[in-house]
Amino acid sequence: MLPRHLVMTHLKLREEIIRITRAINERGLNEGTSGNVSARVDGGFLITPTGVRYDEMRPQDIVLMRTDGANPPGQLRPSSEWYFHRAILAARDDVGAVIHAHSPYATALACTGRGIPAFHYMVAVVGGDSIHCAPYATFGTVELSVNVVEALDGRRACLLANHGMVVIGVDLQGAFRLAEEVEYLAKQYCIALAIGGPILLDATEMQTVLEKFQDYGKQDL
Ligand code: 13P
Ligand code: ZN
Repeated sequence: MLPRHLVMTHLKLREEIIRITRAINERGLNEGTSGNVSARVDGGFLITPTGVRYDEMRPQDIVLMRTDGANPPGQLRPSSEWYFHRAILAARDDVGAVIHAHSPYATALACTGRGIPAFHYMVAVVGGDSIHCAPYATFGTVELSVNVVEALDGRRACLLANHGMVVIGVDLQGAFRLAEEVEYLAKQYCIALAIGGPILLDATEMQTVLEKFQDYGKQDL
């Protein structure tokens, strides 16, 4: 068990991670011990432990990893995917949270090697005109982390071939909302593929949508 002073250091964020993992389960975005969640803290990040079910995870189980490698002793072992969580947080200083999930539709597409093209204007929610699928590499490897960072270039989500999806956000809530959106898009794309294949939007239209998204949904009050 983590010493009390360490738990207290980031207690609110640890609790927020637990809330997000529960929400991921409730929304059917994960099963068993698959998936993992991280959030940036000063000098490192907090990440879910490896092999622990979300519904059994407690704030004190969340692992603190320091950028300089000086990780506090006496913690559970971190998610096997800490390489790509660390690599994303290092590559993107606009990112405060990373969520990885084996959600059914995104994973089904990724198992066919597909990303998600501009079949619907909402694809622009990830910040680009398509969602890339990172080439396959064994889970928990540096190779996978390189592929994931590359597939996320200029975007806030990607699929992982034969594996699942990764989404990023300024904070945990933002990343979670995006995970829901990406899974919903993946579902719609699977259905469109099954009934004859979608008609894709062109690059000019997606550029227009990306520009409109700059102030979409912003209220004056
Ligand atoms: P962890 O339990 O180590 O986080 O692994 C789950 C997973 O999804 C690996 O890709
Ligand atoms: Zn995984």
